[in-house]
Amino acid sequence: MAEETIFSKIIRREIPADILFQDDLVTAFRDINPLAPSHILIIPNHLIATVNDVKASDERALGRMMTVAAKIAEEEGIANDGYRLIMNCNKHGGQEVYHIHMHLVGGRPLGRILAT
Ligand code: AMP
Repeated sequence: MAEETIFSKIIRREIPADILFQDDLVTAFRDINPLAPSHILIIPNHLIATVNDVKASDERALGRMMTVAAKIAEEEGIANDGYRLIMNCNKHGGQEVYHIHMHLVGGRPLGRILAT
């Protein structure tokens, strides 16, 4: 059984966060340490620790994460210029919080996909 992270507290609104969207499946909030003018995290409301733990029963929430990303990109005014969606997995992926999250990053040119 995966351990809850700080993101569960954000979902339950037990700690402050700049929440942009929440419904029965997902929550989206601004990253506390933004790497670009728009840096938003979109997460499932139920705990999935890593992408490796995703199951078919998670597909509704994962699909909702994509539609919410597109909606927020539009609202942030970055849809036309473009942006990047990132999901980090485990150590080599640079994952720090073990509750899967999609980074929506944009508002400036982001360069190539990987910094080397
Ligand atoms: P990752 O390295 O993919 O696991 O990304 C974790 C992200 O969560 C980082 O970009 C952090 O800045 C962000 N983060 C950690 N704690 C919080 C928090 N309390 N509120 C908003 N973002 C957070």
